Amino acid sequence: MINFTVGPVQSSDAVRAIGAEQVPYFRTQEFSELMFENERLIKKFAKAPEGSKVAFITGSGSASMETAIMNTLTPADKAIIVNGGSFGHRFVELCELHEIPFAEIKLEPGKALKAEHLAAYEGKGYTTFIVNKHETSTGVHYDMQLISDFCKRNNLFLIVDCISTFLADPFDMGALGADVMITGSQKALACPPGISVMALSPKALARIDGIKCKCQYLDLKIALKNAERGQTPWTPAVSILRQINARLKEIEANGGVEAEIARTASLANYFREQIKGMPFEIVSESLSNAVTPLHPTTASAYDIFLKIKDEYGMWICPNGGDMKDTIFRVGHIGALTTADYDKLVAAFKDLQAKGFI
Ligand SMILES: *Cc1c(COP(=O)(O)O)cnc(C)c1O
Repeated sequence: MINFTVGPVQSSDAVRAIGAEQVPYFRTQEFSELMFENERLIKKFAKAPEGSKVAFITGSGSASMETAIMNTLTPADKAIIVNGGSFGHRFVELCELHEIPFAEIKLEPGKALKAEHLAAYEGKGYTTFIVNKHETSTGVHYDMQLISDFCKRNNLFLIVDCISTFLADPFDMGALGADVMITGSQKALACPPGISVMALSPKALARIDGIKCKCQYLDLKIALKNAERGQTPWTPAVSILRQINARLKEIEANGGVEAEIARTASLANYFREQIKGMPFEIVSESLSNAVTPLHPTTASAYDIFLKIKDEYGMWICPNGGDMKDTIFRVGHIGALTTADYDKLVAAFKDLQAKGFI
């Protein structure tokens, strides 16, 4: 099978080899050193500001989304949430659950965030802005400069879910003034699922210090205290942290984060060129390098997903809910090559020749 979904994605040979090894004991200086290196490279690749810290949470990306809400916000906050799809909706549900007052900027599927959406919230006493930089469900990549300028003008605390865009598109946490950056192991980090990562600005660290987190397992005060000695409070997904280490060093050795973003962009562009003239429409107004969201005009998106899986041995990424039949996505993150896309494009052409699409 070739995996073109948006996570879990394909891993490099070095990352896979670690998965086959015995899990080492981790309360050691050696594991601490590895964790310090992970922290250093995450901060470097996210361009985290001076004085930032990193927490590694055992749990998928959603665990860090909830951790961010529980550890940095209180009912005294007033948040603005960009809700452009299922991941934006998750932040809405989290703020409801944790009783954080919020206003929601609801966008139609595929639509970009524009200055006019923000205008109504200017100078209205909001304290926090929450956004999924790349709304993976519809493949919309938001304009972070627009959001950053708005947050700076209004002195807002900025939480950014970068789960599917970190290492796929440029992100400068320091320049944007972002306070929480979240990513996950199974997206562009191209490791197995199970670890999510949070980079925390000094402003975020100050908030965490002053807030009582009502969940011991996800209490960042405890996690950050342990991180000072390169450890986690509870047994982490040790192998995945070792795989993340191999992957981060691989990126560093191959030219760093810029080179990795360029590699992903060239795969995305290659695929988008190849499908020109096919009965697919790109549904997003603003694309990330991580994924191409497509609306097939002549067949059900879900039926195409099933055909590609069952008859051609490849996974493209289906959509859920009311987009099930109208949108499928093709990912560009993970260990993929242009030769893989040639196979996918050949399968689409074959389906076209057979009159299926
Ligand atoms: C994948 C993803 C998540 C997290 O999903 P998990 O299944 O919990 O890892 C959150 N936000 C975005 C934008 C994502 O792409």
